Amino acid sequence: MSPRDDRLQVFTKMAEADPTNELAHFSLGKAHFELRNDAQAESALRRTLELNPGHAQAHRFLGEALLRMGRKEEAVAVLKAGILIAHERGEFQPRNQMQDALEKAGVEPPKPQTIVKPTSFNAAPAGAAAPPGTATSAGGFVCKRCGRANPRMEEAPFLNDLGKRIHDTICQPCWREWFAMSIKVINEYRLNLLSPQGNEVYETHMKEFLGLE
Ligand SMILES: [Zn+2]
Repeated sequence: MSPRDDRLQVFTKMAEADPTNELAHFSLGKAHFELRNDAQAESALRRTLELNPGHAQAHRFLGEALLRMGRKEEAVAVLKAGILIAHERGEFQPRNQMQDALEKAGVEPPKPQTIVKPTSFNAAPAGAAAPPGTATSAGGFVCKRCGRANPRMEEAPFLNDLGKRIHDTICQPCWREWFAMSIKVINEYRLNLLSPQGNEVYETHMKEFLGLE
């Protein structure tokens, strides 16, 4: 059995065991989406949106699954709503992905405007990290996840390449948001972070939350 099928089984069990487990339904929907099981992806993602109508990523995967199934009208409605939600929540990566999906489908996407623009927003392209050691909130650092010139973390959260990457690209408020979310993830999945499997699930969720591929 491939690790992917394995995950599918774990998520299916979790979603069945607790019909209100938003994370389990979303993970199941995303796993089906990646395997191109579009009908199954649709049902898990619709359940996710019943539990949390503000889930931006669930809109994205549902919209793209509907497009693949040729249900363009429904897809357009889902993606348009998802773009506005993602924008409002500062989740710019899924917002851009949904805008691209609509454009590819030949539909003009909504382009919500950022109302409060940090003054240094134009000083550096999004995603650009200040050179290590010189970074402050005024040093041209723009967080890759939220697009804001927020303060950086004082040090890398992990002593490996991933930790360095997070330190270089993610602001402190976003990291704190993930930290609060990670407690939920660890509890819901009963993760053992000392096991390689537990670590993998943790990292997958962290990368997705922070918008790191
Ligand atoms: Zn941020």
